[in-house]
Amino acid sequence: MGKVILTGDRPTGRLHVGHYVGSLRRRVELQNSGNYSDIYIMIADAQALTDNAEHPEKVRQNIVEVALDYLSAGMDPEISTIFIQSMVPELFEMTAYYMNLVTVSRLQRNPTVKSEIHMRNFEASIPVGFFTYPISQAADITAFQANVVPAGEDQMPMVEQTREIVHKFNTVYGEDVLTMPEILLPDNDVCRRLPGIDGKAKMSKSLNNCIYLADSKEDVKKKVMSMFTDPNHLKITDPGQVEGNTVFTYLDAFCKDEYFAQFLPDYKNLDELKEHYQRGGLGDVKIKKFLNKVLEAELEPIRERRKYWEQNIPKVYEILKAGSEKAESVAAATLAKMKEAMKINYFEDSALIAEQIEKYQGK
Ligand code: ATP
Ligand code: MG
Repeated sequence: MGKVILTGDRPTGRLHVGHYVGSLRRRVELQNSGNYSDIYIMIADAQALTDNAEHPEKVRQNIVEVALDYLSAGMDPEISTIFIQSMVPELFEMTAYYMNLVTVSRLQRNPTVKSEIHMRNFEASIPVGFFTYPISQAADITAFQANVVPAGEDQMPMVEQTREIVHKFNTVYGEDVLTMPEILLPDNDVCRRLPGIDGKAKMSKSLNNCIYLADSKEDVKKKVMSMFTDPNHLKITDPGQVEGNTVFTYLDAFCKDEYFAQFLPDYKNLDELKEHYQRGGLGDVKIKKFLNKVLEAELEPIRERRKYWEQNIPKVYEILKAGSEKAESVAAATLAKMKEAMKINYFEDSALIAEQIEKYQGK
């Protein structure tokens, strides 16, 4: 069997440029590389409900938004299977069995969940489903026997938790039932955790600090011009700092040398631009205008493709339905294999019946 990818996103909002550099751009490259036999892309609605139980309409609306973002970013449904998590009930059965292999204290150590609990003010009362979502993520990954999970840095503890479950499951129930996955992080450090336009934390749908893939030209410009730079860079002549300067962080994530020739030919590359900024004599407006052009070069083709798919909504739902059906059949095969290994396949195992006959009639 060839290599398999599983990754996905929560339908809690439209996808943003953090998703793009952290996972989506890589997925499209991997998809087009031809090196993977199967690619599964999951819209994690059940996971989104773990902290949005009271907002089902939000989740429902964002399924199609996320699907539109996928297709606009270049996911090809002929190659990649795009599906909806709740349409694959086998995942929940797997989750229940995996829960027996994980301790409460292990879940409490997950740093991503810890910070998400804090962010959502869940400290006093955490929904059980939210607390255990890393276990359901292990089901999502293993159901497809995925080797590779392209994702941002916040997913490292999830894949680590999955690896522990795989190890434990295979040790207890039989070697090679489940495939050991690995996370694939972006090569470029800043893409692993792109900050929000406020310069704080990570860009995140829940923090309202995003540039969305579907934002209009005008909105992107407004957001870029309002971005956080170096608070001590007051006059153009002042030396400026590039570390922690969000505009430069975004240039690190998006800029290619060819954009200099196209939009800012006074400089050969980002290093030269940074050097000038650090020396003094380069204004924030100039670098923001450049970043805006770079972002437009990346976002405009995505926006164009979105227009096409927005006119073909029934087709988008057909893609999701067909993808979910395929995903379910693959997950069902893995679940059957797991149940066989766990010895809970009572009716499929003729040897078991023969054994019982022998036990009672053979004496
Ligand atoms: P929510 O706030 O609902 O959790 P989110 O913005 O964190 O939404 P997710 O759906 O949780 O988005 O994440 C989907 C994928 O995108 C994951 O692989 C995650 O690592 C990646 N990702 C999310 N935000 C960023 C970011 N700012 N930089 C890099 N990768 C990111
Ligand atoms: Mg998240």
